[in-house]
Amino acid sequence: MILSSTKELKDKGFEQILDFFRKKSLWMLHYCTGCGAVELPPTMTSRWDMERFGMGPMATPRQADLLLITGYLSVKSLKRVIYTYEQMQEPKWVIAFGSCPINGGIYYDSYSVINRLALYLPVDLSIEGCMPRPEAIIDGFTKLMKAIEKGEAVGYKKYKENYEWYKKNQREVLERTTPVL
Ligand code: SF4
Repeated sequence: MILSSTKELKDKGFEQILDFFRKKSLWMLHYCTGCGAVELPPTMTSRWDMERFGMGPMATPRQADLLLITGYLSVKSLKRVIYTYEQMQEPKWVIAFGSCPINGGIYYDSYSVINRLALYLPVDLSIEGCMPRPEAIIDGFTKLMKAIEKGEAVGYKKYKENYEWYKKNQREVLERTTPVL
């Protein structure tokens, strides 16, 4: 029993060290549909310079840590986004960027746009705004980095724990449309 607690403590300490370094090296995969395609590029360039936080774009899901849904997400695209998320290695985090993935925004009653990303994927950070300015994006990233360091950004664990709930929600919306593979 004592041995197992000692091991648990060691594992916990090791995870904390890993989290400290993880927050300093976040590679992003962005699914740019709406505002993110406009507001992310200036955040990357010299004026706001997000690379000073160790953040940068990544081309493939398997090497990315963050999945950004930057703007409205159509029902037709949802399946691809879920596939992409499930290909990413853990630990991984999801960011809902702009009003649309948070509450639907101006598409809140659209038949073809999902209005709450958190029903389908575990959202770790929401950056409000229509559209969020680079200052809001940097502020959001800083909050996420702090949450990672404290071990509080655990959406990927919640996704596994509540997998059936997420799958039920995903099926409900995907089955409303003609299956597109
Ligand atoms: S949040 Fe606003 S700017 Fe961004 S995709 Fe939605 S409507 Fe467009």
